[in-house]
Amino acid sequence: MKDSKYLIVGGGLTADSACKGIRDVDPDGAITVVGDEAYPPYLRPPLSKDLWKGKDEKKIWRGTEKYHPDLRLGRRIVAIDLALRTAHGDHGEEYRYEKLLFATGGRPRRLPFGGDEVVYFRTLDDYRKLREAAERRARFCVIGGGFIGSEVAAALAINHCPVTLVFPHSGIGARIFPKQISSALNDYYRDRGVEVLAETTVTGINRQGAGMQVALGSGRVLEVDVVVAGIGIVPNAELAAAVGLSVANGIVVDEYGRARGRGDVFAAGDVAQFPVRALGIETRFEHEDQAKSHGRCVGKNMAGALERYDHLPFFYSDLFDAGYEAVGETDARLETLLDWSGVEAEGTITYLDGERRPRGVLLWNRFGHVDSARELIRAGKPVERAVHVG
Ligand code: NAP
Repeated sequence: MKDSKYLIVGGGLTADSACKGIRDVDPDGAITVVGDEAYPPYLRPPLSKDLWKGKDEKKIWRGTEKYHPDLRLGRRIVAIDLALRTAHGDHGEEYRYEKLLFATGGRPRRLPFGGDEVVYFRTLDDYRKLREAAERRARFCVIGGGFIGSEVAAALAINHCPVTLVFPHSGIGARIFPKQISSALNDYYRDRGVEVLAETTVTGINRQGAGMQVALGSGRVLEVDVVVAGIGIVPNAELAAAVGLSVANGIVVDEYGRARGRGDVFAAGDVAQFPVRALGIETRFEHEDQAKSHGRCVGKNMAGALERYDHLPFFYSDLFDAGYEAVGETDARLETLLDWSGVEAEGTITYLDGERRPRGVLLWNRFGHVDSARELIRAGKPVERAVHVG
């Protein structure tokens, strides 16, 4: 039996940030982190961005060791007894804890075909697999027009690989961008050598000799070497649900990160459904800033801080030479005000509710103004024309 004051289930960025938060308050309490990857916590964003532009792979490591956790890697927690405060690992090990954190993140959603021939891009191993294929100038089919699809397609094209990007919506990033902008992004990608197949579904994936065949709804069959998919994630909340914790879109937590009805069980990061006071909603947020900020705050609270999580997390992306930062509810279905003159220029998208109050702001090719955008959202005052934040 391994005894620790804090048991963290999951070994990603949220776990690293929680260790940091715990150490902000409790310099000595024993921390155990159980993670299913073979690596200590690392940053995922560079895997689909900077590492393809020459950044050193070593820069991804978080150095979690400095918080002196017992890192149990390549392992999974498979059972938890909330009454006894014990957990069981898949190697037969047993853990006893005082405070438990679910930092279990999410796993890639999978297509109903293609099996393990498809790279569902999420981990360092996935990055290395793609990198090795890119170095031999493999031909790629990238499925999905969200964050992974758009970033990975750009990264591969920057590295001179033939890429076909396939997705069912009319434009890249259609969940976020108004139609005119996501259509402009299709053209921007085409101009940079990516074959963009919008409004196209994939109906089958098969290995064919050394290559892969991707059958499309249009009847066309793509011949490629590697198939990559980014079609969303599923929160790893099953274990929490199995022990009776409240699970909706994710594990339901309060403003301190406590699982509903518990003072000793917490959840943070991608897997947690948390209250966003500034927006009056509960949501999950699957981005780096949330893993860092929520993870740290909840880590502090595990150690007794009782700090309200009042942060409005932001996200960012790089698409070739363009990029953006965004905060709040950036849902293309909302009414938007555009300050926009093209993919290569600076711009702002303001997302409004029915009373024309800003719910979200996306700053296109404009960096360092997220705090001003947060202020605009928190102020909650109706706006009539595009706001140039910052
Ligand atoms: P994502 O951004 O949610 O995009 C997935 C896209 O795939 C959505 O447009 C979705 O359409 C579409 N889709 C769903 N089922 C499909 C299918 N069967 N065939 C084709 N397309 C399908 O998810 P992701 O790109 O896979 O990213 C995975 C996770 O990593 C997310 O949590 C994301 O936030 C995170 N990530 C973040 C960043 C960043 O912050 N810059 C970068 C990379 C990854 P619907 O909208 O209709 O469901």
